[in-house]
Amino acid sequence: ATPTAVMVATGVGANNGVLIKGGDALERAQRVKYVIFDKTGTLTQGKATVTAAKTFTGMERGEFLKLVASAEASSEHPLAKAILAYARHFHFFDDSSDTTGTEIDAENDAKSGWLFDVSDFSALPGIGVQCFIDGKLILVGNRKLMEENGIDISTEVENFVVELEESAKTGILVAYNDILTGVLGIADPLKREASVVIEGLQKMGVTPVMVTGDNWRTARAVAKEVGIQDVRAEVMPAGKADVVRSFQKDGSIVAMVGDGINDSPALAAADVGMAIGAGTDIAIEAAEYVLMRNNLEDVITAIDLSRKTFSRIR
Ligand code: ADP
Ligand code: MG
Repeated sequence: ATPTAVMVATGVGANNGVLIKGGDALERAQRVKYVIFDKTGTLTQGKATVTAAKTFTGMERGEFLKLVASAEASSEHPLAKAILAYARHFHFFDDSSDTTGTEIDAENDAKSGWLFDVSDFSALPGIGVQCFIDGKLILVGNRKLMEENGIDISTEVENFVVELEESAKTGILVAYNDILTGVLGIADPLKREASVVIEGLQKMGVTPVMVTGDNWRTARAVAKEVGIQDVRAEVMPAGKADVVRSFQKDGSIVAMVGDGINDSPALAAADVGMAIGAGTDIAIEAAEYVLMRNNLEDVITAIDLSRKTFSRIR
C-alpha cells in the first residue's frame, strides 16, 4: 500500500470512530488470527447491577449492605460501584428494586456520613478488598480471598454462589469478624452486538478467545452466551499478558481488546492492541487502536480496513 492509501484508511477509520496510531498497526491487523477479549466492560456493558443479596448469619439486611458498601467505598472497581449504588438506594429508600438515578458520588458518600468509618483499607487486585470496621476485619471478594484468610464456606453458601455463577452472575462473598456473613450476586449484561461480532470474526477465519479475572463458572456461562469456545478464567491481572504471549508462540498475530487497567499489559503485549474508548486512560495509552464508539463491531471494521488497504483477500 502507498503512503496515501494508509493515510486514506486512517481517515476512514477516524470517520468511523476507529483511531489508529500509525501505519504499522494498520498493516498488522490484516493478519490477526486470534482476538482475545476481556470480559468485564469489553464483552459486557460494564454496567454491573446487584441482583441478589443474602445474609447467612441472621444479620439484618440494611446493616449487611451498609457494611459491604463501607468496605467498597474506596474501590474504583465496577463491582464496588454497583454495590455502593445498591446499598445507597436501600439505605435512603428502604428498597433496592430500582437503582436508576442513584449516581455514583463517592465524595458525597463520605460527607453525608451514612457509611461506617473504615481503617486500613486495601484493594487486592483480582480478588477483592479488605479493611477494618469497628476494629474487626471485613473481607469482600471471591472464594480465593476467603480461602487465603481461612474463612469457612458452608455448603449452603457454596450452593448459593454456584447457583449465581451458573446464571452468568458474579458471586461476591463477605466475611466480617472471620465469619461468612453474606453473598451478593452481580449481573453485567453482554453488549447487544457481542454475539454477532463473535460470529462475524469466526466467518472471517479469526478465532475469538475470552480472558477474565472472574471465576470459571461465570466465565463459561458468559462465553456460552456469546458463542466463544476458548475461555481463560481466574487470570490474575499480570497473567493476561501471558495469555497473549501463549497465543503468539507459534508466530500467530494476536489482537487484544480491553478496557481496564488490568488489561494494559496485555494490550501492550499484543500485536494489535485495541482499547474500548470508554475504558481507562492507561488502557487507551497502551493500545494502538481506540474504539471510540465502544461498539465491538469496530473490531471487525478495523480488521476489514486493514485487509482492504493491503488487499490481502483470504
Ligand atoms: P476482570 O478481568 O473480569 O475485569 P478483575 O481482575 O478486575 O476481573 O477481578 C476479578 C475478580 O476479583 C472479580 O470477579 C471479583 O470476584 C474480585 N474482585 C476484584 N475487585 C473487587 C472488589 N472491589 N470487590 C469485590 N470483588 C472484587
Ligand atoms: Mg474489563
